[in-house]
Amino acid sequence: MTHILTLNAGSSSIKFALFEADTLEERVRGQVEGLGTSPRLSARVADAEKTESDLDGNAVGDHASALAAILALIESRFSGARIKAVGHRIVHGGPDYSAPVVIDEQRFADLERLIPLAPLHQPHNLSGVRAAQAAFPEAVQVACFDTAFHRQHPWVSDTYALPLELYDEGVRRYGFHGLSYEYVTRALKQLAPMHAAGRVIVSHLGNGASMCAIQGGQSVGSTMGFTALDGLPMGTRCGQLDPGVVLYLMAEKGLSAAEIENLLYKQSGLKGLSGLSNDMRVLEEAGTVEARRAIDYFVYRIRRELGGMVAVLSGLDALVFCGGIGENAWRIRERVCQDLGWLGLELDETQNREGETVISSYRSRVRVFIIRTNEELMIADHAAKKARKADESVAAA
Ligand code: AMP
Repeated sequence: MTHILTLNAGSSSIKFALFEADTLEERVRGQVEGLGTSPRLSARVADAEKTESDLDGNAVGDHASALAAILALIESRFSGARIKAVGHRIVHGGPDYSAPVVIDEQRFADLERLIPLAPLHQPHNLSGVRAAQAAFPEAVQVACFDTAFHRQHPWVSDTYALPLELYDEGVRRYGFHGLSYEYVTRALKQLAPMHAAGRVIVSHLGNGASMCAIQGGQSVGSTMGFTALDGLPMGTRCGQLDPGVVLYLMAEKGLSAAEIENLLYKQSGLKGLSGLSNDMRVLEEAGTVEARRAIDYFVYRIRRELGGMVAVLSGLDALVFCGGIGENAWRIRERVCQDLGWLGLELDETQNREGETVISSYRSRVRVFIIRTNEELMIADHAAKKARKADESVAAA
């Protein structure tokens, strides 16, 4: 039996999923966390219970050794599984990559040149590629970009008002979470084709959070920009910020670039505001003034962005919630959708609390959906298609 493996390699973790190549049925999904400190492998095989095991920290310290541990797990459950293609989540495809590609040495070098645009993610994504090339030399390696879905943005959504030469050298609004938006757009097309063809806003609300304005199935705007810092406040990232704050931190407080990076990426957002946690469940339960205010700010920013996107789209046909918070936190959805009667949007309170797929009332002109996103399946689908194409060209030769 042939399979597709998906990899999402981060600084201290590697997430993976295994799918059957022909049916794209998911077989196993899991991750190795704590790389370099105390590595731990957790996985769920089909519908079975989650399995967890500590790995030997001396032996499992990098992506290659983590991949070996993942392989051992796959071998133990599906002996003889042949990996036909590996789909990699690559955070940055720069201005040019607007679709998945098979990775060869030329493209690998292209993607390495994009490291300055995503220094916290791209190097780790590429280490994952190297590890997979070594482990599966026969497999097709496919890069699937988080930026690709946004590459058709109109120029005004793609730029900052900086001297034009900076745009030319790549300082642009790229937008991220593209694999999630692509999956959700396809799922919405199945669920509600008329709405999917219209004006849609998708709110991907997880530890990373962004929103995407979509018209006729195409992204026309994203709250994220040059990096995945911009837009909504997130678990630990600040979201939209006056660049004057960064100048102040440098000039008046003497913070270095590395210290500012740490502050904006790791100490801000829900965690920074609440002084407690980046986890929405913890904040909802805590009930402290600071936790409440962190949630207030999160909701306020979502509603502000929603209003701006509605203006850009000249109206709204569908609003979709996805991501850990979007899919599970009914109170957040309720607050985001409060008093939007002027937009023709009304929630059905019960359906919202119960987490139904459609959560707008029958009177609501705008339909509101919860769609469980599945970036891994999107990656597997792209990788399977590329592998099929590679097979066809071999057969034709
Ligand atoms: P993600 O990054 O998409 O996995 O989302 C993680 C976020 O989803 C965290 O802030 C979690 O607290 C939040 N989350 C997951 N389940 C729930 C829930 N039942 N209620 C509120 N927040 C949740």
